Amino acid sequence: MKMNHHYGELKASYLFVDIAHKVAAYQEAHPEKEIIRLGIGDVTQPLAKCVVTAMQDAAAEMGTKEGFHGYGPEQGYPFLKQAIQGYYAGRGTQLAEDEIFISDGAKSDLANVLGLFDVDNTVLVPDPVYPTYVDDNVTDGRKIIYGRTSQENGFLGMPDDSVKADIIYICSPNNPTGAAYTREQLKAWVDYAKKNNAVILYDAAYECFITDPALARSIFEVEGARECAIEICSFSKIAGFTGTRCGYTIVPHELEREGMNLNKLWLRRQTTKFNGVPYVVQRAAAAVFTESGMAEIQANLDYYRQNARVIADALDECGVWYCGGKNSPYIWLRCPGGMKSWEFFDWLLENCGVVGTPGVGFGECGEGYFRLTAFGDAEKTKVAAQRIKAAIQTL
Ligand code: PLP
Repeated sequence: MKMNHHYGELKASYLFVDIAHKVAAYQEAHPEKEIIRLGIGDVTQPLAKCVVTAMQDAAAEMGTKEGFHGYGPEQGYPFLKQAIQGYYAGRGTQLAEDEIFISDGAKSDLANVLGLFDVDNTVLVPDPVYPTYVDDNVTDGRKIIYGRTSQENGFLGMPDDSVKADIIYICSPNNPTGAAYTREQLKAWVDYAKKNNAVILYDAAYECFITDPALARSIFEVEGARECAIEICSFSKIAGFTGTRCGYTIVPHELEREGMNLNKLWLRRQTTKFNGVPYVVQRAAAAVFTESGMAEIQANLDYYRQNARVIADALDECGVWYCGGKNSPYIWLRCPGGMKSWEFFDWLLENCGVVGTPGVGFGECGEGYFRLTAFGDAEKTKVAAQRIKAAIQTL
């Protein structure tokens, strides 16, 4: 028996455990203080009413002889794939129905899609970034190169011809930096991928936050992307499905490597290793794209956008550099007073009773930076922003 020893190479992730310990210790020492959490990446607004109704109706249907659904198509029901097709077509991106695969969320597909590629491929991951990309490849034993980003390039890495990568991760709008690529910038990545015979794994989990028309909502808005990219998206942030679980992956027909068609491979993979997303969940997800669903969902997104604005305004007033917050729920700020990420965490907790996430927890290039999120309660976010402004102004 031989075990997968690559699991032993994973760096232990103490980030959120350390945060929880520090917050608990602070609360115990100061039971009278109200702590405001602006560190969470989870949504807080409830599901839209029409989503709940669709879920209830589907559940009732399942309890009838005529409406019962057993195993569904592994790649998702046509009604949901067609709704996603419409969502993309509405912004000018044409997809074939069989290029869309429904999943139980982006995190699963981000890991599962790697099964299409040999372990002897080099992976390019931006730093800082959503830590899952790194861990998924460490456990497979792939070589990882980090694309370092910084304030100078607005935390948006661009291709470097001296670097040879086979699998390229792009997360736009990025978690944790909130930075998002324009179509022109993404075109440079598409050109690089085609030149290097590489495949881009494009994580669009936060596309719904984009309002700036210069920014891409999908990699498939870029010419040539259909020959070199897979897009992974989620209902988690657009519609609060973090606990309901639904996502989708788009594998274009044109994507081929070594004579193998990736759409056909992914279909084979899904039909072999996956038995689909629950019917009730897919009905709930389809309701997101109805007229009333879209209106309700926009109201939730606007709630988070307003929170982001409140935090950004406070930082503007005290001259703190940040990116994100405009087309993203994340605000990525430079720690004031030259503080390091954890130093600022302690300072913020001590002086403001506010909890955020130290940037260094997302990669070395995050040292000296800090992530605040707009997913909190609006009133509490206002209080937190006031406290942060007042405290930073004393520095
Ligand atoms: N991708 C990014 C960049 C994320 O930040 C997250 C969750 O926070 C996910 C994917 C996971 O999405 P899902 O809930 O669909 O698994």
